[in-house]
Amino acid sequence: MHYKRILLKLSGEALMGDRPYGIDPKRLAEYAKEIKQVVDRGIEVAIVIGGGNIFRGVAGASNGMDRVQGDHMGMLATCINGLALQSALEDEGLHTRLQTALEIKEVAEPYIKRKAIRHLEKRRVVIFGAGTGNPYFTTDTAAVLRAIEINADAILKGTRVDGVYDKDPEKNTDAVKFETISFKEVIEKGLKVMDMTAFTLSEENKLPIIVFDMNTNGNLLKLISGENIGTIVDVK
Ligand code: UDP
Repeated sequence: MHYKRILLKLSGEALMGDRPYGIDPKRLAEYAKEIKQVVDRGIEVAIVIGGGNIFRGVAGASNGMDRVQGDHMGMLATCINGLALQSALEDEGLHTRLQTALEIKEVAEPYIKRKAIRHLEKRRVVIFGAGTGNPYFTTDTAAVLRAIEINADAILKGTRVDGVYDKDPEKNTDAVKFETISFKEVIEKGLKVMDMTAFTLSEENKLPIIVFDMNTNGNLLKLISGENIGTIVDVK
């Protein structure tokens, strides 16, 4: 597959590195370098970042907090991560914009599709913050939504596992990795790639999801150069 425009989904937890919470500046700088490598190849890069390293609405709700209140905190957490990532990307000399689904005008642009596309065409990295702007959703769903809106060729889900396996590879040594798998097979086999809302949105819109290990240097570049790393989930 040839990529022209990608949407990279990074989880908030990935930013923790070896820390128990928050942001590891070393990990952030590594990610920025990886992203620069693909921007330098002329790929248009949009990013959705999670907030799980700071706050998850569900965690708040389990402690008795109102779920919507917690989700608002979670969405703001994604903006904090977005600002951190923006800063790390700019340290690498990249041009960036942060667009948020909840307005914080003094800090970031509001999300406007046409503007986002224009930024991408000008080779600016666009980070989408605040998820979908709605409670009860995840940043995976936001990633799929934005990818469809901006016509990305694929959504690249960077994780600490290098693809989709038939069983949990962190618990089973005999787990087998799929190079490609269809949306249908993922559901039939009961595998987990993204939450169901995100997954079905991707399937309905025929947006391929590529799961890969973002924590190995050079992997993002290898992937967009067509190397077979990770797992491609597609309609087939
Ligand atoms: N969130 C939300 N609506 C969205 C996206 C995120 O309410 O559209 C909130 C939700 O509380 C979620 C938190 O933001 O738990 C952080 O996002 P997520 O859990 O997806 O982050 P990740 O797991 O990728 O770090």
